[in-house]
This record gives sequence, C-alpha cells and structure tokens, in this order.
Amino acid sequence: MAYDPNNIFARILKGEIPAYRVYEDEHTLAFMDVMPQADGHTLVVPKAPAENLFDLDPAMAAAVMRSTQIVAAAVRQAFAAEGIMLMQFNGPVAGQTVFHFHLHIVPRYADRPLRQHGREMAPAAVLEENARRVREALQRR
Ligand code: AMP
Repeated sequence: MAYDPNNIFARILKGEIPAYRVYEDEHTLAFMDVMPQADGHTLVVPKAPAENLFDLDPAMAAAVMRSTQIVAAAVRQAFAAEGIMLMQFNGPVAGQTVFHFHLHIVPRYADRPLRQHGREMAPAAVLEENARRVREALQRR
C-alpha cells in the first residue's frame, strides 16, 4: 500500500484536524490517543511520512524512540504507572488501523486490565485533562 498523505495522523501533522498535543520537536509529535486503552495512552509519530516500520527512515526511527523515552517518562510520572507498555503495529492483520507509523505508550497497573484497542472514544474533557497532566510532567523534567 502506498503512503496516503491524507491519513488522519498526516492531517494532524498538517494542522488540519485537532489533537491533544503533549510534545513536539523537529522530527516528532506526541498526542493523546482518543480511544485510550488506559488513561494516559499517548502516541508518538514521526513528522516525515512513513506507513510503517518498513518504510521508516532509520534516523526518524531513532528520533521517534528518543521522543518516546521522554514522553513515556512523563506519562509514567503523571499517571503513577507501575509499568509502561509500548505497542507498534505493522499492517492490518497485525492490528494497524492508521497508516502513518506510530508508537503507543500505555500505562499499566497490576490490577487494571487494558481497555480494548481503538474501541471507545474518551470524553474531550478527560483527554484534555490527561494531556495537561503529561505536559505538566514534561515541564518538570
Ligand atoms: P493502530 O491500530 O496502531 O493503527 O492504532 C491507531 C490508534 O490511533 C488507535 O489506538 C486509535 O484509537 C487512535 N486514533 C485514531 N484516530 C485518532 C485521532 N484522531 N487522534 C488520536 N488518536 C487517534
């Protein structure tokens, strides 16, 4: 499949649709997943177009991982997570639904099962508050 320049994350990157943005640098953007599997579920994307792991420029892969370290530390602190799970899907059969490369950052707790993947939209006020908590934790670093 060729990269679709109008996929939803490409449109977020172009500023055509809003997102609960928490972190940005030259090569990457992080924002809240609108159907979080746990409170604080955050996505990190490269700004450069890439459908999946296989067409992602290695330098951009490094940039995404660097941002993921930074944002995951903030998510862990902001949500007092006992663990942090990273997820990344390549191809529909692997569970990929948005075809712009992204890493999921998901807080985990011993006593809380994950909500289902991409199933239920969280209320805007919850997403805004969760984004605020991540941004605040990022400012403390
Ligand atoms: P994947 O299955 O890895 O492709 O995951 C795509 C993720 O993007 C899912 O977890 C969705 O909840 C999430 N998602 C879809 N649309 C948006 C959006 N507009 N803003 C933030 N997250 C989104």
